[in-house]
Amino acid sequence: MKILVINSGSSSLKYQLIDMQTESVLAKGVCERIGIANSNFVYKAKGHTLERQIDMPDHKVAVKLVLDTLTDKNIGVIASMDEIDGVGHRVVASGEAFKKPTLVTPEAMELMEEIKDLAPLHNPAAIVGVNACLAQMPHTPMVLVFDTGFHFTMPDYAYMYAVDYSHYEKYKIRRYGAHGTSHKFVAEEAAKYLGKDIEELKIITCHLGNGSSITAVKGGKCIDTSMGFTPLAGVPMGTRSGDIDFAAAEYIARKENMDISEMLTYLNKKCGMLGVSGVSSDFRDLTAAADSGNDRARLALDMFAYGVKKYIGAYAAVLNGVDAIVFTAGIGENDERIRSASLKDLDYLGIKLDADKNANYARGTIAELQTDDSAVKILVIPTNEELVIARETVKEAKLA
Ligand code: AMP
Repeated sequence: MKILVINSGSSSLKYQLIDMQTESVLAKGVCERIGIANSNFVYKAKGHTLERQIDMPDHKVAVKLVLDTLTDKNIGVIASMDEIDGVGHRVVASGEAFKKPTLVTPEAMELMEEIKDLAPLHNPAAIVGVNACLAQMPHTPMVLVFDTGFHFTMPDYAYMYAVDYSHYEKYKIRRYGAHGTSHKFVAEEAAKYLGKDIEELKIITCHLGNGSSITAVKGGKCIDTSMGFTPLAGVPMGTRSGDIDFAAAEYIARKENMDISEMLTYLNKKCGMLGVSGVSSDFRDLTAAADSGNDRARLALDMFAYGVKKYIGAYAAVLNGVDAIVFTAGIGENDERIRSASLKDLDYLGIKLDADKNANYARGTIAELQTDDSAVKILVIPTNEELVIARETVKEAKLA
């Protein structure tokens, strides 16, 4: 069985064709600059990479190009489109309209239209992506898989904001979280790796990348997560402020003559590591700058690690203990110094990182990095959000 996973952005479309028998990637790539001059098409399969500038005026053309390439006699990996059993679409925001992966139907797409403005940059793109795929594959089952889906098991006191309750009722203002597919994947992989029943585990998953979020997982279910109504909340990130006193944001807006939408752009794009350091949002640049004496780069990195540590402490409390801490995504998998700094002085919780194992972690593998006498397992697990989307597609479309 083969599942095509589609991740549509406003001007991009990432794709992966996954063989579900082996859970391996047959082909993957990206269409960039859709609807913009110099569109770029990347296709990787059978150890080869093809990159071409091809005009892609819209997502329909991009999807057709992907399908034509997947079925190409020379470089394709399938003989015909009929070999694609289902399509899984990544969707950023669900509101309370969708609490689980959902089959694409006219009714589901109507609901998608209604929640468009929950993620104005991302959700409209997902709708365009679904329609582009439906135009090419009208009879192939398709499933919407939401980044927020894993977080719907949070108790009400964890997801509610302390605002006028009628605003929750009217607008569904609450914590939704993000990176749900990643947190779910690494929590399940951690249980498998440890040879334990996930029902019996308390895990803190740290997805640390361009966007970062931390989740408390009890018995395989999310009970709290650091991102909020949108992915702006939680630890400071590449360009996002993370948690901030709203009154401080209002004060800056007043002084700098920003309106609310300018303020949101500022908090999402100009703050975080970039804003504090003035150097970059990328942790490699920040580390290099800090090492050559840039104190603001050092400060940004310290703030990030401190933020992660605070969430680990908070979630150890809400979980009533922790069996495993999992690091994943670009920073979690690659940045040994951030792992080390965010776990520093947590030995009273039984969390003890082995400095050598941490420094010698081989990228792309699953590894445990705790000392022999650490009560808590410390794991690095490469994430695989596409595989979760493909698995959910098989389940929801009843393809298995
Ligand atoms: P992601 O959003 O998961 O793709 O993560 C991207 C981020 O991971 C980049 O912006 C970098 O800050 C970080 N990153 C990637 N590779 C490394 C590395 N080798 N060392 C430190 N940080 C890295």
